[in-house]
Amino acid sequence: MKKVTLIPGDGIGPEVTNAMKVLFKAAGVEIDWEEENAGITALETKGELMPKSLLQSIERNKVAVKGPITTPVGKGFKSINIQLRQHFELFSNVRPIKSVKGIETRFNNVDLVIFRENTEGLYSGLEMWDERLEIADSISRITRLGCERIIKSAFEYARMNKRKRVTLVHKANILKLAGATFLKAGEKISKEYPEVLMDDLIIDNMCMQLVTKPEKFDIIVTTNLFGDILSDLCAGLVGGLGIAAGINVGKDVAIFEAVHGSAPDIAGKGIANPTAVIESGIMMLDYIGEYEKAKKISAALEKTLQNKQQCTGDLGGKATTIEFTNNIINNLN
Ligand code: NAD
Repeated sequence: MKKVTLIPGDGIGPEVTNAMKVLFKAAGVEIDWEEENAGITALETKGELMPKSLLQSIERNKVAVKGPITTPVGKGFKSINIQLRQHFELFSNVRPIKSVKGIETRFNNVDLVIFRENTEGLYSGLEMWDERLEIADSISRITRLGCERIIKSAFEYARMNKRKRVTLVHKANILKLAGATFLKAGEKISKEYPEVLMDDLIIDNMCMQLVTKPEKFDIIVTTNLFGDILSDLCAGLVGGLGIAAGINVGKDVAIFEAVHGSAPDIAGKGIANPTAVIESGIMMLDYIGEYEKAKKISAALEKTLQNKQQCTGDLGGKATTIEFTNNIINNLN
């Protein structure tokens, strides 16, 4: 039986990852979940924020599904998410954003994929505090190699999935060196993919265009911070954070997770929407070759989402996390 590491995470993490596990079991998915936690919950139970046993489990299994992990704001420890991404060199964060039948928003034809560079930029962890002058420096370091590999993965995805266009998003008008490095990498890589169109947009213009005409975008590739912000913005275009999933992938390890965080405002209330984690689990099933099971669960989820009454509050329904999960299970056949 395939072993997959499962990180329940903090806040709503255990509720939504458990919903995924229950649903997958009902669908006959044969996975031996190796449960290992990280973050505040792991600190409380194991005395470590990122236990060695977790890293060893991911190293062995190469595939993990992760619930959200709380990171204290403005103080405390370095984000576990960033540590995991840097440790396993998960340089590519792929986040598909697609309109869902039944979920009403201002747009009904969005179908784009965000490729966010996952290990560099403002998330490099290079911060300094000058006590005397009271100055904080946060260094945004990007490398030619880092730009080329994230842009290449976006173009490769475009080729494999017969997508037509890759849009590079940057701030090269102000960040001259970083912007030029990113754009030059785009020029170089795009030559290997003559069938895919490439264009570029400045981040502020991109935000405006996304909230007015998101349908016209196909693949978006960008640096770490811009990708993080655009992911939440784009999740909002198709129904919110409850439904947006993603994958962190490098050379040989992949960690699947929701875009959303640990949602402390609703944690423990049993009302979190598990769709995003379920979607990330479906992506994981495709990744390990369990196509039929992925298709079956995806169809049941899609059917459930079409009936608002069967959904959680964020989607306009009244169902709890458990009721929503049972509704998907009832739709499995
Ligand atoms: P958040 O994504 O946790 O929540 C933002 C809003 O969306 C909240 O109102 C929340 O209730 C709602 N929401 C999120 N997921 C939902 C779901 N599944 N169903 C229904 N509503 C949902 O963002 P935040 O509040 O800014 O961050 C909380 C914590 O999560 C922070 O510590 C942050 O660092 C962490 N975080 C972790 C990850 C990760 O582990 N990948 C990602 C983002 C934020």
